[in-house]
Amino acid sequence: MPYSKAERSKATPETRQPPSLTIVVPCYNEEESLPFLLAGIDTLNAHLLQSNRIAEPLTLMLVDDGSADRTWELIQNTSARFKIAGVRLSRNHGHQRALMAGLMQADSDVIVSMDADLQDDPNATAEMIDNYMQGDDIVFGVRASRATDSRLKRSSARGYYRLLSMLGVDLIPDHADYRLLSRKARDTLASFGESNLYLRGLVHQLGFGNSIVTYDRAERSAGNSKYNLRRMISLAIDGITSFSVRPLRLITISGFVIAAASFLFIAYALVAWFAGRTLPGWTSTTLPIYFLGGAHLIALGVIGEYIGKIYTETKARPRYIIDQTVHTDAKVSTAVE
Ligand code: UDP
Ligand code: MG
Repeated sequence: MPYSKAERSKATPETRQPPSLTIVVPCYNEEESLPFLLAGIDTLNAHLLQSNRIAEPLTLMLVDDGSADRTWELIQNTSARFKIAGVRLSRNHGHQRALMAGLMQADSDVIVSMDADLQDDPNATAEMIDNYMQGDDIVFGVRASRATDSRLKRSSARGYYRLLSMLGVDLIPDHADYRLLSRKARDTLASFGESNLYLRGLVHQLGFGNSIVTYDRAERSAGNSKYNLRRMISLAIDGITSFSVRPLRLITISGFVIAAASFLFIAYALVAWFAGRTLPGWTSTTLPIYFLGGAHLIALGVIGEYIGKIYTETKARPRYIIDQTVHTDAKVSTAVE
């Protein structure tokens, strides 16, 4: 476990009232999973109200990330026993930006973010709120196991977290975007202006009193994953380049090592030449060319990644563009259920 109870940063004790709650869910072509989500949130809402964890029905904020299916239509026409806030982005901005848009729009004491496909078990939200009541400002949802992932996703995730920690990026392994933020934590997050968003890394930098809650990650309720390989690689590269410049340092170091090796080789070649033992050597000529060619391209690519980041950051374009918003009040149930 990355964060034991003893290690976690201690929250300042303060008395807190049962908070108002917004659950932010980015949705990209999720028409198939929305009914399941609404049912799951309905159960959660009833449970949280009954156990006095929240004082009023929660708000479900659905951010439509430029879906091409009926997602927005469903969001607009849904009413439930909790409040629904719909935000439609002007086009597909990607998961992280859609989530950021929702977080910034929310107006409540605590904000919980989760995925639309119920892979993040809503029941863990109750425990997150308990931790908030004890003074935590951030509660990270951490998956207990990766049993629902393919072997490839599991091993690549493990390798990636190891690489991140080697590069000095401090993250909570197996925490994705299921987390609770207090209003204070959210307001502080708002002051981070970068446009290349890697929220799980950014939130970890905030500090404050925080803790983790473990949950079992379920299979997707319906529909397919909206993360293809390209999006996954792009998120992975953002995770590294947004938090570490160590790859640039590694290039410099490997440059020195290769230069030192080539000095030795030059010395050897000169000695061989003086000794008259020079044979036309195809191998010793071509191998260094291939090797150095590859090393140069990798180095240029890494530097290019960072320059690309600088380029997009200096433009300071908006991270997301909101097209429309809708609000639906909680349906008051009169019937005895
Ligand atoms: N998502 C989004 N915009 C995108 C891609 C995904 O808002 O461009 C949302 C998606 O609707 C879901 C969440 O991000 O609520 C996580 O995506 P998904 O479940 O497809 O990813 P996976 O769980 O397979 O990593
Ligand atoms: Mg998912």
